[in-house]
This record gives sequence, structure tokens and C-alpha cells, in this order.
Amino acid sequence: MRDVIIIGSGPAGFTAAIYTARAGMNPLLIASSVESGGELMKTTEVENFPGFPDGLQGPELMANFQAQAERFGTEVLLDDVIEVDLKGDVKIVKTGGGVTYEAKTVILATGAAYRELGLPKEKELSGHGVSWCATCDGFFFRERTIAVVGGGDSAMEEANFLTRFASKVYLIHRRDTFKASKIMQDRALNNPKIEVVWNSEVAELLGEGKLTGVTLRDTVNGATKNLDLDGLFIAVGNDPRVWLVENQVELTAEKFIAVEGRSSKTSLPGVFAAGDVIDPTYRQAITAAASGCVAALDAEHYLADH
Ligand code: NAP
Repeated sequence: MRDVIIIGSGPAGFTAAIYTARAGMNPLLIASSVESGGELMKTTEVENFPGFPDGLQGPELMANFQAQAERFGTEVLLDDVIEVDLKGDVKIVKTGGGVTYEAKTVILATGAAYRELGLPKEKELSGHGVSWCATCDGFFFRERTIAVVGGGDSAMEEANFLTRFASKVYLIHRRDTFKASKIMQDRALNNPKIEVVWNSEVAELLGEGKLTGVTLRDTVNGATKNLDLDGLFIAVGNDPRVWLVENQVELTAEKFIAVEGRSSKTSLPGVFAAGDVIDPTYRQAITAAASGCVAALDAEHYLADH
């Protein structure tokens, strides 16, 4: 039986791995079969992670996290957790690869998944003009006209990044002020290729088999108009990934995993949670990493007490 299994491979998961590995707990980190590395794998330049004054690429930062975790003996498994039973003293974790693992403690660091607009055709047009990842798909829109939906840091970042490829980027936001930090807003507002479409929401995706445009609805007066587009990038936030455990651990009203005070302790003994899956507010790589550290220390203390 393992001392600890960590589910998730973003900054929270890998920081928990670094700490538990250095504490001699021989962690098994289950990283997902296709999306190892978490949200930073989809970002470009990370400028606000302390210790890197010149910034670095998101995937490079995650490779560093993993190398540091492995250096102290973390076993990283590229597989998907499909089922868990966390109620007893022995925690059971089953993977898509067909293996069942047992552990004394589990750290849940499953992060958050991108939010959809909830429009008809959204799934059908995904990969055919509709995307959630500028770094993955931006290249396909050279000299094209595209739009980004959202008013947070992600939308600003994506819009700016996409101006490297696209000839024109509309930034569609449902209000008349952005939620994003000032520095990110200023960058977008000062970019000559970006045109902000205020007080507007996407009411309909247009095109058969391939996106050709959107219908916009004015959020103030309800008027609609069509906008021709080659691509639409959706950056309207994320929802915590809790489906694996939602019937076992307590969730908050907003459906994040509930933890006790400033700790990582969930409603189940021996089960800890860290990162975006517990955090409706800050959701930064550095805060996720810090909470992974907290979870590792909580798991270590739990083992010492039992
Ligand atoms: P976010 O901060 O939650 O912003 C989501 C944006 O999408 C908001 O402007 C929201 O509008 C809009 N929105 C939500 N649902 C919508 C819908 N159905 N239709 C249209 N618009 C919708 O999410 P985020 O931008 O992904 O950022 C998440 C976290 O990561 C934040 O803490 C952010 O600071 C952080 N982050 C940081 C960086 C960086 O520092 N470099 C980069 C990316 C992300 P309202 O404003 O009207 O609510």
C-alpha cells in the first residue's frame, strides 16, 4: 500500500509530490493520460511566477516541476483516474489502464476545466473554428479574423497572443468593464489589432461543419447582429473538476471541494485537496503550488498521527 497518491499534475499536484517525496512518502502522482501538466500547458509566457525574473513558458515551468518531483523519487503515472473509494482507512484508486491502487492518504489536485458557453453547435464546431486554447490552435488562424470571448485575464492573454497570427481579433465581453488585472487589460486595449466589443454576448454560433461567424446580442438593449469570423476562442473561466469525488467529499455551494479553514483537510480523514479544485478566488500557479505544499504537510502529519 502507498503512503500517498496524488491525483492531478498541475502546480498543486507536483508541489505536493515534491514535499511528500522529500518526506520519504514515495508518492505516486497520477497525471492523466493526455493532459498532463494542467492549465499552464496551455499558456505561453508566465511572467509572475517568482524566481524567474525573465519569465518562462508554461510548459517549461511544468517540466521543471515534474523534474524536481521525480528527482526525489515521485513516480509519475500517465493514466486517468476513473473511480475512487475514499471513505475507508484504505483509499482505493482505479485507473483507465485497469490498475487498482491502494493508499493511506490521497491528495486531490484535479484543478478546473474550461467553461463552455452552453450554445447549440458548440461541441460540433469545437476544433472546426471554435477553440479553448490559443497556444494550441492560434497557428491555424494566420491572417484570419477571429474573436475571443471573456473579460478576465485569460481572455486578455489569449487575445494578445492571437494577434501574433490573426490579422484582427475582436474581444467580446458581456459588460462595459473588464474583470482582468490592469496590466493585462492595458496590453489588450493598447494592441492595435484588438477591437473590444463591449456589452455583447455570443447568442449563436454560425456555420455548418465549420464556424463562419457568430450572432452577437447586445446585453443592454437586446439588439442582435452578425459578425463574420474564421475562429472563436472561448475564455470565460473554469469549473472545478469534482466529478470523481462529488458523492464522497463535501463540496462548497459553488461546487469546489470544501476544506477545513486554511488547511487542505476534506470531510474525509486522510483525504486532502489542493489547488484550483478548492479555490474560487485566487487561482494562480503560485497559490496552487502553495496549497499543494499545505496538502503534503497535512498528509504527512496525518500519517504520523495514525
Ligand atoms: P475569470 O477570471 O473567472 O473570468 C471569466 C470572464 O469570463 C469574466 O470576465 C466573465 O464575465 C466572463 N464570462 C463568464 N461566463 C461567461 C459567459 N457564459 N458568457 C460570456 N462571458 C462569460 O476566468 P479566467 O480569465 O479564466 O481567469 C481564471 C483565473 O486565472 C483568474 O484568477 C486569473 O487571474 C488567472 N489567470 C491569470 C493570468 C495571469 O496572471 N497571467 C492569466 C490567465 C488567468 P464577468 O466579468 O461579467 O463576470
